[in-house]
Amino acid sequence: MQTPNHRIEPARLYSDPNTRELLRRLLAENIPLEPSVGADGRVHYPLAEVVLGPEADVKSWIAEMLAQDILRKQTAREFVMCPVHLRADPIIMVECVKCRSRLSVKRSLVEHTYCGYIGDDSRFDKGGSLQCPNCGRPIRAANELKVSGVWYECQNCLSKTSSPKLVFVCKDGNHEFTVADLALVNVDSYAVNERVLAELKNTLLLDPQLAVMLEELGYQVESPAQVQGQSGSKHSLDVYAKKDGLTIALQVAVDTKPVEPSAVIAFFAKTFDIKPNRAILVTIPAASEEAKRLEAGYGVAVVEDFDGAGVVRKVRDLLKGGTV
Ligand SMILES: [Zn+2]
Ligand SMILES: [Zn+2]
Ligand SMILES: [Zn+2]
Repeated sequence: MQTPNHRIEPARLYSDPNTRELLRRLLAENIPLEPSVGADGRVHYPLAEVVLGPEADVKSWIAEMLAQDILRKQTAREFVMCPVHLRADPIIMVECVKCRSRLSVKRSLVEHTYCGYIGDDSRFDKGGSLQCPNCGRPIRAANELKVSGVWYECQNCLSKTSSPKLVFVCKDGNHEFTVADLALVNVDSYAVNERVLAELKNTLLLDPQLAVMLEELGYQVESPAQVQGQSGSKHSLDVYAKKDGLTIALQVAVDTKPVEPSAVIAFFAKTFDIKPNRAILVTIPAASEEAKRLEAGYGVAVVEDFDGAGVVRKVRDLLKGGTV
């Protein structure tokens, strides 16, 4: 059995222009919604905050998208956080395990792979540029040097260690915590769910392209549109365009297989009430034979396109060749 086409309840999803815009950005830029640490030390989803606005509750927006299967969780990232304030921007300090001084110098033993000389890394520093103190050759690439040992030297008691104690200082009150106390928090990224990818791409990327094309032809365009029919009830359409009293109703139907007649019938139910001059149903990847048979009888023009790339051209050609 084939997986049923996953339908999104458009009225809910598309009623919020910010939601549309955020999903459109994720699709157009082909990026996941990723967390990062803000100036306040908290984990944020910067793109979501920019698009949804400073007042928006990003957490519940994400929960809503997950509940509707529009977003899915992707690889988690770990953040080191203060166990008390859950700030993810501690200052990290190196502490001497003997005298607890926090004045250490990092030293490393470096080998020049060309001549085999091994020495303290400070000896390679020739006034800002790197040069081998033995053979005198300048160091141009990182792979010309091999680090063969690293240690920390306390500037107070001069003891050396390769594994010093790390101390974290929380920016909230400058209190300290250690590796043993820190909170390691997994934070997810979110990507658009594959099951709705095609449909969303067409709605959020293709519909605007169709709207632009119609505007260029001089139409007044609404997309997505809520159009009142003669019965008084409102119908949602992907695109509704008007010019000199002529009207076009346009809907995009996407499926994993040729679009079934039910899509034609559902669209017809709207156009029968709205009575546009032209009713166009775009089907991706194709319309089934039965759907095509209904086309003429229902007064719906069916445009087929395999992946959506040719839709704008095909609809434009249809309009130019037609009576509208
Ligand atoms: Zn803290
Ligand atoms: Zn010390
Ligand atoms: Zn050398």
